[in-house]
Amino acid sequence: MATDVRSPASLHARMPVVFVGHGNPMNAVEETRYAAAWRALGAALPRPKAVVCVSAHWYVAGTRVTAMARPRTIHDFGGFPDELSRVEYPAPGAPALARDLASRLAPTRVELDESWGLDHGAWSVLRRLYPDADVPVVQLSLDETLPPEAHYALGARLAPLREEGVLVLGSGNLVHNLHALSWGEHPARPYGWAVEFERTVRAFLDREDPGPLVRYGALGRAAALAVPTPDHYLPFLYTLALRAPGEPVSYPVEGIDLGSVSMLSVRFG
Ligand code: ZN
Repeated sequence: MATDVRSPASLHARMPVVFVGHGNPMNAVEETRYAAAWRALGAALPRPKAVVCVSAHWYVAGTRVTAMARPRTIHDFGGFPDELSRVEYPAPGAPALARDLASRLAPTRVELDESWGLDHGAWSVLRRLYPDADVPVVQLSLDETLPPEAHYALGARLAPLREEGVLVLGSGNLVHNLHALSWGEHPARPYGWAVEFERTVRAFLDREDPGPLVRYGALGRAAALAVPTPDHYLPFLYTLALRAPGEPVSYPVEGIDLGSVSMLSVRFG
């Protein structure tokens, strides 16, 4: 939990923190209920100066931050219609913010990256939150060699950004088990363990007890099925780490897609 030493007067200026369950990339182009809910979420949030996005899809060995002025749109998926591969999301980068981030995360070594860009974990959601692509975006990678506790600690170091009008956006899915996807049924009934794990997450959030969510590996069978690999869960820990004591939590988007993908969004503040 981030330490809060600020005066109550400054609370009004603190930017909320948001985790979005992104799920199927087609939400970027189809008018799904998730697309509509993300649009409403973007309109409801204070307008940020910039976005720092932690996406499930930049899961690499090392902590990196995109430092280019013009990040490219990365079409990092296969088997989807051409329409999705044609999407461009031309939001500017924020090289100064990237350098600033690198120094804030010290002593963790952060590489200023010039080759990545915006992956679909970032742009499929940002395209709905900020359709005009006029908010600068920096992506922060997930270091696949770090344990969950280290990701949580890195997230906590981003706390000052909230006071500077920067939106920290985690993009993944709290439940993400592609082996259990039910493509056949429409609409698919959520698996019991998917519902159970979502409920567990909400219960710990509602009682402001982040520890078990950081050490999610100890949460039993439902957690093991909901989080078979860490990539889609870890972005959530960056946002969880930024919740100030007593700060309200809300769930602006709810739903479980295809039986085993939680679309739950979590907003702090
Ligand atoms: Zn994904």
